[in-house]
Amino acid sequence: TTQTIARSYIIFVYLSLSLQVKKYLKPFLLSQEKLQEISARLKKNMIQGLGKHTHHKAPVKMLPTFVRATPDGTEKGDFLALDLGGTNFRVLYVRVMEEEQKVLKMDSQICAIPQDIMRGTGEQLFDHIAACLADFLDSQNLKGQTLPLGFTFSFPCEQIEIDKSILIHWTKGFSCSEVEGKDVVKLLRDAIHRRADYDIGSVAMVNDTVGTMMSCGYKDQSCEIGMIIGTGTNACYMEEMKNVKRVEGEDGRMCINTEWGGFGDDGSLEDIQTQFDVVVDKTSINPGIHIFEKMISGMYLGEIVRLLLVKLTEDKLLFKGKTSEALLTPGRFETRFISEIEEQDRGLKNCQNILTELGLKWDSVDVRLVRLVCDTVSIRSAHLCAAALATIVNRIRENRGLDYLKTTVGVDGTVYRKHPNFSDKLQAMVHRLAPNCSITFLVSEDGSGKGAAMVTAVAQRQALSHLL
Ligand code: BGC
Ligand code: MG
Repeated sequence: TTQTIARSYIIFVYLSLSLQVKKYLKPFLLSQEKLQEISARLKKNMIQGLGKHTHHKAPVKMLPTFVRATPDGTEKGDFLALDLGGTNFRVLYVRVMEEEQKVLKMDSQICAIPQDIMRGTGEQLFDHIAACLADFLDSQNLKGQTLPLGFTFSFPCEQIEIDKSILIHWTKGFSCSEVEGKDVVKLLRDAIHRRADYDIGSVAMVNDTVGTMMSCGYKDQSCEIGMIIGTGTNACYMEEMKNVKRVEGEDGRMCINTEWGGFGDDGSLEDIQTQFDVVVDKTSINPGIHIFEKMISGMYLGEIVRLLLVKLTEDKLLFKGKTSEALLTPGRFETRFISEIEEQDRGLKNCQNILTELGLKWDSVDVRLVRLVCDTVSIRSAHLCAAALATIVNRIRENRGLDYLKTTVGVDGTVYRKHPNFSDKLQAMVHRLAPNCSITFLVSEDGSGKGAAMVTAVAQRQALSHLL
């Protein structure tokens, strides 16, 4: 019938065009051997980051967190938590209950951070945060109390103590002046004191990876890795103190915030960076910083796809060579489109709607090619994360002299949660790159909120036990 002929014709055109498109996609395909090589490179970088005399030049910073223990189930109390650095800024009121081994989110509130505050002065940012907290405390009738506060601040910080933490540099679209090089806890306290209408108790600074690890650790004591694949990407894990050369003491373990997003900042990933990655980095607000993250995380994936689509259109392989104003606008192809386009059943339909929204004239071959582009970019992201995670689990296994390691990773982030097959791709590849490890993946339930409260609770428990 004419329908079958039409369908075969589409398949024929798709196959011949996709052969040409695949030439453009080839640099995005990383073989297992290549991923192994990348993992070995990261391993060297991690050792460099931990070393006393090599740290200052290390692109992967391996920051001590002063979190020395995962929860033991005896923690309790009421806490406030702030979560800055993901998709939303949030304020939370959290109760940690000893009896039921439970962390309850009593209430929470999302506050928008407008672009001009993200790029304004530090004082404006912290005044804004203090004001959001004030509103929330008002709504909960908590202004008279001074509750301890867990501050999830998801940026690379040199932690001096659990409540003293210096921002190294901003990432993910923030660029407030007068914050880099300063103690973030002090900036928060100063802002609260400027208002003088409420106060907070002790503060624990937490990276979101650490909160994620801790919130899973409450359920699963073998959770000793936290990983985020969201707006940005990063992981933390429990390292042997004797290997943490920059902190006194040889006994026990400490959680290390790897800041693996900085992998490649010394040029070591140039062999796998495509021309599109180079443009994404150059046009970002922090060129040269967080090269690995820019190949992986939600803030950048959509833009990589957009640049590829523009190139393919200009070279007449898509949309009959006609771009649109929207397609030519940086940031207009959102990362969530990738997830929508890759959906099993509705993907092609979603793709049609998105392309129409972007003012493009498409045919059914275009739609399939766009999906191929999305697939390729998201699989590379999943595989790069897999290589990095494999490096960590292999390291933990070697640290402990084990032939076989069973461990749990607490995970969070919009890319990991929302993309239809990202987690499958990631897990399958980690399995191949770390064959002697069996890894359970636990999607964290609000690690940045509950986890931060957990870290605060553990810090309190430990402070108390030092007194006794
Ligand atoms: C930050 C990390 C954070 C990660 C995930 C990165 O840009 O440097 O500190 O953990 O994003 O939110
Ligand atoms: Mg978060």
